[in-house]
Amino acid sequence: TMLSATTAANDDIIATDKATVWHHLTQHQQWEEKDPIVISKGVGMRVTDVKGKSYLDATSGGVWCVNLGFGRERIADAVRQQLIDLCYFAGSYATEPGAEFAQKLLSKMPGLGRVYFSSSGSEANEKGYKMVRQLAHMNGDGTKHKIIYRDRDYHGTTIGALSSTGHEQRVAQYGPFAPGFSSFSHCLCYRCPFGKTYGSCNIECARDLETAILREGPDSVGAVVLEPITAGGGVIPPPPEYFPIIQEICQRYGVLIHIDEVVCGLGRTGEWFGYQHYDVKPDIVTMAKGVASGYAAISCTVTTEALFNEFKRADGNPLNYFRDISTFGGCTSGPVAGIETLAILEEENLIQNTRDMGDYLMDQLYALQEKHAVIGDVRGKGLFVGIELVTDRATKTPASEAQTGQVAGHCLEHGVMIGRTNRSFSDLNNTLYLSPALITTKTELDEIVSAIDAGLSAVFKQ
Ligand code: PMP
Repeated sequence: TMLSATTAANDDIIATDKATVWHHLTQHQQWEEKDPIVISKGVGMRVTDVKGKSYLDATSGGVWCVNLGFGRERIADAVRQQLIDLCYFAGSYATEPGAEFAQKLLSKMPGLGRVYFSSSGSEANEKGYKMVRQLAHMNGDGTKHKIIYRDRDYHGTTIGALSSTGHEQRVAQYGPFAPGFSSFSHCLCYRCPFGKTYGSCNIECARDLETAILREGPDSVGAVVLEPITAGGGVIPPPPEYFPIIQEICQRYGVLIHIDEVVCGLGRTGEWFGYQHYDVKPDIVTMAKGVASGYAAISCTVTTEALFNEFKRADGNPLNYFRDISTFGGCTSGPVAGIETLAILEEENLIQNTRDMGDYLMDQLYALQEKHAVIGDVRGKGLFVGIELVTDRATKTPASEAQTGQVAGHCLEHGVMIGRTNRSFSDLNNTLYLSPALITTKTELDEIVSAIDAGLSAVFKQ
């Protein structure tokens, strides 16, 4: 029998869930000792569980997705009508929402010319990798196919995406990995891999890309893939000099730039896209979470017109086109929800709000850092912030995963949901994440910051 959240008892839902659902990122023996929270309703930034307890969600649905907040009837109405008119068509057939959304999206991305639809961030990245590999074959013998990724970046859960992911615990035990991927240094100044200090360094982290290209052989490297601001790896905005150096190196060696905007895309950082804070011209841009704000499953691989044209060349080779399909890239719910998402971002001036509220949030967190020695570093851009916890500021000894979890747990108990590094590294699961919906006001941000204040006091007993 079907259980409905509104009619079934909470205990029945929990029992059924425990007996049937295998949850994401969950150690089930530990998890089953406690009862899961069953979320049943959301309005704006507030969600309620079936017991009627209310929470302020500073995570945008757990993983930085519901950027516009919950309960947007306008999106639901548009999707409903579209599903009645035409729910789906794929392949080389066209649909009105697909065309309209692609055009509107591209208007926010000067220099880019084509949109390829799929249904998850991992998938969008895999499309980008396949384009790079096929280009190597169409323009040569396939040698220039390698993709360089960055330590501490995450690009997804499928084997190709995982093969380009620099989170040691996320990738452990899932090998063997796909060949043709190789890594270079992360750019976290707080834990500089070169032991330097920003201001007196030579941006060695960006120059390490050249070392990686030379190590692999420039003739074999097709692209570099980067998050504009590393998300799950600890919220790491690069220094301002970073991307121009990356761009220059890529130009020199004929390496394409693939920017993974799965988290940062569509306003999260206070620009339409994270890369637009920096001086860089990507060849491929992937996006997912914010595209439809969690109201539909849609992802996009956006490319330059020049890259697209390479796949158009009719030079007699029957393989000369992108032989790829995403079944659910044909769902019209995605582009329709995307059209509404773009309209809401504009009409409610949410990108400006993200900048303003992001600045306010950072100020509050810097003040909190004065009070709590355990806050080692605060970093971020727009409404995407990481708070790194250390038990000793001088040695930067990371707080444990358990301590970091206890702070998040304390906030949850007191009605505020915050995020944290989730088993990505062996010794650096010590960062709290804040990614409130882009509609947030100071009132909610104050509530979030005071919950963290109380959580830190309780766990670290200062
Ligand atoms: N890239 C980045 C930067 C991500 O954070 C994620 C997901 N958290 C992905 C790709 C993968 O997206 P998905 O889970 O939709 O496959």
